[in-house]
Amino acid sequence: MTIGILGGGQLGYMLALAGYPLGLHFRFFDPSPEAPVGRIASRVTADFTDESALEKFANGLELVTYEFENVPFAAARFLSDRLLVLPPPTALEAAQDRLREKQLFQQLGIATTEFAPVLNREGLDSAIEKIGLPAILKTCRMGYDGKGQSVLRTATDVARAKNELPGRHSAGPRHSTRSRASHDQAPFVLERFVAFRRELSILAVRGRAGETAMYPLVENHHRNGILRLSLAPAPQLDPAIQRVAEDAAQRVFQALEYVGVLAIEFFDHEGRLLANEMAPRVHNSGHWTIEGAVTNQFENHLRAVMGLPLGSTDVIGSSAMLNLIGDVPDSAEVLAVRDAHLHLYGKTPRPGRKLGHITLRAASSEALAAQLAELPAFFRQPDFCLDTVLSRAPSRASAD
Ligand code: AMP
Repeated sequence: MTIGILGGGQLGYMLALAGYPLGLHFRFFDPSPEAPVGRIASRVTADFTDESALEKFANGLELVTYEFENVPFAAARFLSDRLLVLPPPTALEAAQDRLREKQLFQQLGIATTEFAPVLNREGLDSAIEKIGLPAILKTCRMGYDGKGQSVLRTATDVARAKNELPGRHSAGPRHSTRSRASHDQAPFVLERFVAFRRELSILAVRGRAGETAMYPLVENHHRNGILRLSLAPAPQLDPAIQRVAEDAAQRVFQALEYVGVLAIEFFDHEGRLLANEMAPRVHNSGHWTIEGAVTNQFENHLRAVMGLPLGSTDVIGSSAMLNLIGDVPDSAEVLAVRDAHLHLYGKTPRPGRKLGHITLRAASSEALAAQLAELPAFFRQPDFCLDTVLSRAPSRASAD
């Protein structure tokens, strides 16, 4: 049985690794000849707009899923006219546009950051009047890892942002070559800047018969918009907050008749959860599940889309996941740390590129803090965000 996967990055790579023990085979579709899955599975290298390549890709597949949410909706629809595509392409469409996504959250009664659409330069002032400053201006489409965002705090920031925005009478937004923005769809969204206590995400999975399973909320630390560190389960997790996150996932599941793993990212702000965005796929903040949960997110996604029973989402102790971005440490030094697991994606190093991750697992959050303190000097760089975590465990941090 061969599963087709749109996108050939590390998420696809780990989906295949989880699927091989289940006897599954994989075929990937990715425009880049450098896609890491090339090492372990067959691959069609073509643009997502190439219908004859999509046709060739679809031939003989059991079903298609994706590991990348910016797959053009037209490609997903082209495939769904021919075979089963899960999660449903409508989920892809909802998650590709930040404004639509926030509007969906709002319709479903899921609390979100305050936001306003921004069509052009002239529209920024009225959006600021509604939202106030500080705020974040984001492109609606193609933004990820903090790309396409600017924080507006002062009049100077606003003037600078206006310079970058298209005027009312211009042909379209500067990003129009990459976006499908139509006249009724704003190319930008302005959001209230939230001085959150912490960022949390939930990984949830729904099977074909509507059964669901939830992993515990994860605490995420970002640097420059990129995820650096996840702690799972989130320390001091209030069961009421977990219920709110699960309820949000259930609402999205119902509305989109969703099948597969879904990730929703939240801000924990003044005791409330505010949804920031969702990803209709396996997610970086779920990598810890490979070692830290009974069934990992990749296997559960495959079980869901295949119509197989879902696996237990119970955790095994406490886990920390650290992303390796732009550079990788010495493997032997990492593996010398107790219960440290190294995952390298086989990508060519480049600044800002996710090259791998490590997961540390321990019996308790205290033991986990001790293991984090044992990590080699490579991980002392501020980018790894370890300072906050270690400062919560004073005895170990001061002993280090
Ligand atoms: P995003 O691409 O929306 O996930 O944003 C990347 C990161 O920027 C988030 O993980 C937050 O750390 C930060 N961020 C995004 N939106 C906001 C906001 N409205 N208020 C404060 N920080 C934000």
